[in-house]
Amino acid sequence: MRYQRSSALFTEAGQYIPGGVNSPVRAFKAVGGTPVFMKSAKGAYLFDEDNNQYIDYINSWGPLILGHANEAVEKAIIHRVKSGTTFGTPTALETEIASLAVSMVPNIDKIRFVNSGTEACMSAVRLARGFTKRDKIIKYAGCYHGHSDSFLIKAGSGALTFGSPNSPGVTEGTAKDTLLAKYNDLDETTQIVNANPDSIAAIILEPVAGNMGCVPPEQGFLKGLRELCDAHGILLIFDEVMTGFRLARGGAQELFGIKADIVAFGKVIGGGLPVGAFAARNEIMDYLAPSGPVYQAGTLSGNPIAMAAGLAMLKSLEADRSVFERLDQKTARLESGIRSVLSCGSEPFTINRCGSMISVHFSDTPVVDLDTASVAATNTFNEFFHFLLDRGVYIAPSAYETWFICDALSDADIDRTIEVISAFAKR
Ligand SMILES: *Cc1c(COP(=O)(O)O)cnc(C)c1O
Repeated sequence: MRYQRSSALFTEAGQYIPGGVNSPVRAFKAVGGTPVFMKSAKGAYLFDEDNNQYIDYINSWGPLILGHANEAVEKAIIHRVKSGTTFGTPTALETEIASLAVSMVPNIDKIRFVNSGTEACMSAVRLARGFTKRDKIIKYAGCYHGHSDSFLIKAGSGALTFGSPNSPGVTEGTAKDTLLAKYNDLDETTQIVNANPDSIAAIILEPVAGNMGCVPPEQGFLKGLRELCDAHGILLIFDEVMTGFRLARGGAQELFGIKADIVAFGKVIGGGLPVGAFAARNEIMDYLAPSGPVYQAGTLSGNPIAMAAGLAMLKSLEADRSVFERLDQKTARLESGIRSVLSCGSEPFTINRCGSMISVHFSDTPVVDLDTASVAATNTFNEFFHFLLDRGVYIAPSAYETWFICDALSDADIDRTIEVISAFAKR
């Protein structure tokens, strides 16, 4: 059997870990079957416990933009770890990565490091509330901002996949301060803002949504939100946990030429270690403890090993700025290949892409928000997923996830992937 050891390991894990996993999306619940336990990885490839090899289109859900076991990152971690793993004091390394991040991203003066994207978004919203002295936030259906209480209202991907976008355990009191809007519908957001005068602290969104498949913003949507926020004293928060240091050096702010007030980071900024961050201009960041009154802290925040990994990652991106263009070209090659082979099959499909984020929905309705993402045929997707997995192509086990292309992926890997998808279309 192809997945014998994975199967046994999953059964054992289930005895000690809820559902056998430490994050629900890993569990294959949506697509059926047993999750594959990985043993090692290098470049564009994963190797599982049964010694099967895969071309990886998840890349740890986004962080590994240069591929697995990148040499610069690996070297930085090994070098750093020999000098102690954590001190609970400031280190020079933190200033080094902070100044580099601030120089790469438009419109930010200061940055605070945390341990995950969840923490970054949670803290960004607290800061926005403290700064504006208002309580409510607007979030978009299908956008995911981590698992903190305020955001588990129609959250995307994992929560959607498991049918619990509104999680039990989130109190009504918390939920009432999160106003839900439809992605890409500026008119509706405007109505919500008008109906809640002087009470909205922030509008938070993924500038390119990546947790209901990939859903880019429609022309004018981000600009309209910027103007709306300016007119009403609302802070615009870009959750760039996925898009930051991926779509461009300066993330979505740079790509679309729209300035956010607060930006949340995660994934790429940690180089594969647990890191998040949030950033803004001085006026806002100086509202944060110990400079200002809004409290936020972390025992292992800015941890030297994590900072060394993140710094090596950002330095690699800085040293080769053509990486974003190259990723775009690779993903374009993948897109056009998939488009042409799926056109030969009988299933309707929609492919959305922005730079190195791409997703395939089995529906011919354009996917622009959660409703349109939800009409796609999940049975077809599940069959597609297993067809690819069994042929050594590893995509996310949910129709609501984006694929992340890494720079280690070669044209031959892409062509092999297209060949497999062609076989799927002809099956
Ligand atoms: C992954 C993700 C998060 C959460 O980050 P974690 O590190 O998993 O806590 C938040 N926002 C977006 C857009 C994400 O993709």
